[in-house]
Amino acid sequence: MKPAPFDYEAPTTIADALKLLGGHEDARPIAGGQSLVPMLAFRLARPSLLVDLNRIPSLAGIEEKGGVLRIGAMTRQAAVLASDTVKHHAPLLIQALENVGHPPTRARGTIGGSCAHADPAAELPSAMVALDATMVIAASGGERRVPADDFFIGAFETVLQTGEILVALELPKQTGGSAFLEVSARKGDFGIVTVAARIAVKDGRCTDAALVLGGITERSVRCAQAEHILKEQGATPKAIDVALAALPLDTVTMDSRLASAAYRRRLIPELCRRAIEAATTSKVAL
Ligand SMILES: Cc1cc2nc3c(=O)[nH]c(=O)nc-3n(C[C@H](O)[C@H](O)[C@H](O)COP(=O)(O)OP(=O)(O)OC[C@H]3O[C@@H](n4cnc5c(N)ncnc54)[C@H](O)[C@@H]3O)c2cc1C
Repeated sequence: MKPAPFDYEAPTTIADALKLLGGHEDARPIAGGQSLVPMLAFRLARPSLLVDLNRIPSLAGIEEKGGVLRIGAMTRQAAVLASDTVKHHAPLLIQALENVGHPPTRARGTIGGSCAHADPAAELPSAMVALDATMVIAASGGERRVPADDFFIGAFETVLQTGEILVALELPKQTGGSAFLEVSARKGDFGIVTVAARIAVKDGRCTDAALVLGGITERSVRCAQAEHILKEQGATPKAIDVALAALPLDTVTMDSRLASAAYRRRLIPELCRRAIEAATTSKVAL
């Protein structure tokens, strides 16, 4: 099938892009096109105007300032994966990206595009939640900042309103070691179940813990109770067992021909155990 007809504009500033998006009811931004182009081809999306963000230089780039890493939404996934700054500041993002698609899709696909698309099985939303990222959104009325955990609402649904652009992601310096594990049908496929873990241990105490599941329901799920247990009791083998017993298995609703909900529930505890142990002993611990 071919896409339905659409107009095309390629502005060079955020202000012009916002003007174009705000001036058409069903205009849509296009970033790397790795999800949107297939959606156009299958006529799952039929915008009257595509606003190409690729010619806006201020939307791309990686910058560390005052302990905060700012990644422009249009930064290619491959550029983030190759960045030493990201490797040092937010290794969990690198670990997650290694599971996203393939070199050709990462060469075009952007960090912001993956987050704006909000596929429930995508790796980056869970990584952003586990890293306590802040999503920077531009609208004609100004900018607003939204914590990643509030940004993702449901399957293919975020707080982004029509006419808004995700301009950047801001990450505090990662505390603790981390691991990103997933089970997928093939290397490079979306996850059936994904786990992002970040565990900080100091003087034998667990000072911070983040455990986020993906692929199990409409959006990433933060395992708040398990995190609390790890912080209270430490990341000891006994505490890990207690934390695993508190995983939110009842939130699993994803049930498909590829993997039943029951299978996903069986995967979660073992995947979490491995992720917590790997994060606790991670050589990238900061
Ligand atoms: C073969 C293949 C395998 C893949 N495997 C995986 C995988 O394993 N894991 C995974 O997570 N993804 C996977 N993907 C998807 C890939 O990661 C996409 O890059 C990503 O989903 C979308 O990013 P994009 O830059 O291409 O966005 P686009 O496709 O251009 O846009 C996606 C959506 O986001 C909106 N959008 C984009 N940028 C912005 C912005 N800055 N502000 C507001 N809205 C915006 C668009 O309007 C559109 O609705 C795969 C894709 C392919 C083709």
